[in-house]
Amino acid sequence: MRMSNMLITTLREVPAEAELPSHQLMLRAGMMRKMASGIYNYMPIGLRSLKKIENIVREEMNKVGAQEFLASALIPSELWKESGRWEVFGPEMFKLRDRNEREFCLGPTHEEVFTSIARSVIKSYKQLPLNLYQIQTKYRDERRPRFGVMRSREFVMKDAYSFDKDEKGLDEAYNKMYEAYTNIFKRCGVDCSAVEADSGAMGGSGSAEFMVKSEYGEDEVVFCDKCGYAANMEKAPSTAEKAEKEEAKVLEKVETPEVKTIEALINFFGTTAKKFVKTLIYKADDKVVAVMVRGDREVNEVKVVNKIGGAVEFELADEKTVKTATTAEIGFAGPIGINSDYLLVDEEVANMYNFIIGANETGYHYVNANYGKDFEGTVGDFRNITSEDKCPKCGNKIVIARGIEVGHIFKLGTKYSEVMGATFNDENGKVKPLIMGCYGIGVNRTMASIIEQHNDQNGIIWPLAVAPYQVVVIPAVIKKEEQMEAAEKIYKELQDLGIEVLLDDRKERAGVKFKDADLIGIPMRITVGKMISEGKVEFKLRNSSEVEEIEISCIINRVKEKFEETV
Ligand code: ATP
Ligand code: MG
Repeated sequence: MRMSNMLITTLREVPAEAELPSHQLMLRAGMMRKMASGIYNYMPIGLRSLKKIENIVREEMNKVGAQEFLASALIPSELWKESGRWEVFGPEMFKLRDRNEREFCLGPTHEEVFTSIARSVIKSYKQLPLNLYQIQTKYRDERRPRFGVMRSREFVMKDAYSFDKDEKGLDEAYNKMYEAYTNIFKRCGVDCSAVEADSGAMGGSGSAEFMVKSEYGEDEVVFCDKCGYAANMEKAPSTAEKAEKEEAKVLEKVETPEVKTIEALINFFGTTAKKFVKTLIYKADDKVVAVMVRGDREVNEVKVVNKIGGAVEFELADEKTVKTATTAEIGFAGPIGINSDYLLVDEEVANMYNFIIGANETGYHYVNANYGKDFEGTVGDFRNITSEDKCPKCGNKIVIARGIEVGHIFKLGTKYSEVMGATFNDENGKVKPLIMGCYGIGVNRTMASIIEQHNDQNGIIWPLAVAPYQVVVIPAVIKKEEQMEAAEKIYKELQDLGIEVLLDDRKERAGVKFKDADLIGIPMRITVGKMISEGKVEFKLRNSSEVEEIEISCIINRVKEKFEETV
C-alpha cells in the first residue's frame, strides 16, 4: 500500500477520555474512532489487525475440528423465553420490536440460538460430537462501557458450542478448546493465564477464564507461584482461621449509641476487627439474605448467590429492607431475631468465641456472642480469600492480582438442552439431552490486550503475526530520484513475496514518517536515505533501538530471515 493513498488518522495528542494505554494508542494510531459511548468504528489500519486476530482464532478452531457457522445477530424473543433468559438477562440486553410488534434482541451471546439449531439438526448419537463456532458481532448494553474496546457495547466474539453424548465427550471437547485457546493467545503474543472460574449456581462441571494481568482489570485473580494454582477470586475457597479457644461467656446487650461502623466499634470497645462479626443484608430478587463474616472480611457475593440457588438481581439491601429485617436503623444488624429468608454464617464466625454482633435494635450491640449457643444459621464459605490466606491447593503463600478476561470456556452440561428440548437418540434408542459446552473469546478485547502488553512511549509494537502491515519502506526524501527508485524496487520485491508492505511516499519529512511508523507499530522499517549512493539502506526493528546498515542486495533476505525467526 502506498501511504500517499492511504487513510491515515493518527493523532498527535493523547485523547483526554482514554485512561488505558491500549485505548489511547488505538485512538492515537488511528486504529478506530469513537462514535458513541462504547461504540467504535474501525479504520482500515485497525481493521487489518482485527481480521488477523480473527484468522488466528479461525485457524486454531478449524485445527481442532470445530466448524464455522454464522448466526444472525437479530434473535426472536421466543428462544430466550424458552430458556428463561428473556427476563434474566436484564438491562444488558438490547431489545427491540419489528413493525408487527414482535419482540427481538440483538444477541449478547448465542447459547439459545445454537441449542435451537442443534435441536433441529441433531437426531442421533452418530452425529456427535459436534462443535460449531462463529466469529460474530455481539451487543451488550454494558452498565459502564469503558477502556475503549475492552468493554464496549458492540464487539466481535468468537463463540463456540460443543455437543456431546456424554460427560467424557464434553471433557474432550473442553480440553481441545483449552489447548486451542492456549495456542491462539500465544500466536497473538498475549501473555495470559487460564484460571479456575465460577460455574454458577446451576453447577456446571467446570469453567476456566483466560486472564491477562492488568492493574485496570475488573477481576481479582488468586495465584500460587509454588503449585501453579490460579483461580478467580469469586471461586477461590477460603480457609477459616481458627480463633484461640475461650470459655463461652454469657451474652450481654450493651448500649452503643451512634456506633454504627466497624471503625467506630473498634474505638468504642477498644479491641480489633477480629472480635466483631458484621451482618450484611442483601436483596436477592424478592428474598432477603443476611450474611455474617468477621469484621475485617469481605463477603463473596458469588459464593452467597450460589448457596441460595441463584438470583437475577443481587445487591446490598436498601434502607427500608434493612429496617424491616432488623427492626433497627442501619448499623445494628445481627443474627438474633433477624427477619430474613436466609442467615448465612461464614465458617470462620462459627469458629470464633465471645464476639460482638449487632442487636437488631437501634443503639445496641451484643457482646460475648457464640455460634450454636446464641444463634444458628447455614454455615459455609461466604468470604473472599485474602493475600494472608494460604493456597487452597498446596497451603503456600498466594498472590492476588487484577486481571482482564479475554476468553472463557465453560462446561454447560444439560442446562440449555434440557429446558429447550435438544435431545438425541443414544446407542440403545433412548432419548437423552445433549451435553453442551460453550467457549468465548473477545476478539477486540484480545486486540486491546495485545497493545496493552506491546507498547512503548512512541506507540504500539505489534507482534508480526497481528501487525496491520509487516514492513514499511521509507524513502527519506521522495524528491531524490535515486532514493525513490530504490524504495520502489524494495517495495515491489516484498509485495511479490506476499509480504504486507507499506511505501511511505508521502510528501512529509522523514521524522514525521518515522513517528507514524512507530506509533502505528509496524514491526520492520527499511529506510532508503543518503547511503543509497553506497548501495546501502537502513533496517530497524520496532522492538529494538539498533539500526542495521545493510547492502541493498541483502535487504530482502534480512526481512525473510526475520519472518523465519518468528515462525
Ligand atoms: P466480563 O466479566 O468482562 O463482563 P463476561 O463474563 O460478560 O465478561 P462472556 O460472556 O464470557 O464475558 O464473553 C466471552 C468473552 O467476550 C469475554 O471473555 C470477553 O473477552 C468478551 N467480552 C465480554 N463482554 C465484552 C465487552 N463488553 N466488550 C468487549 N469484549 C467483551
Ligand atoms: Mg459481562
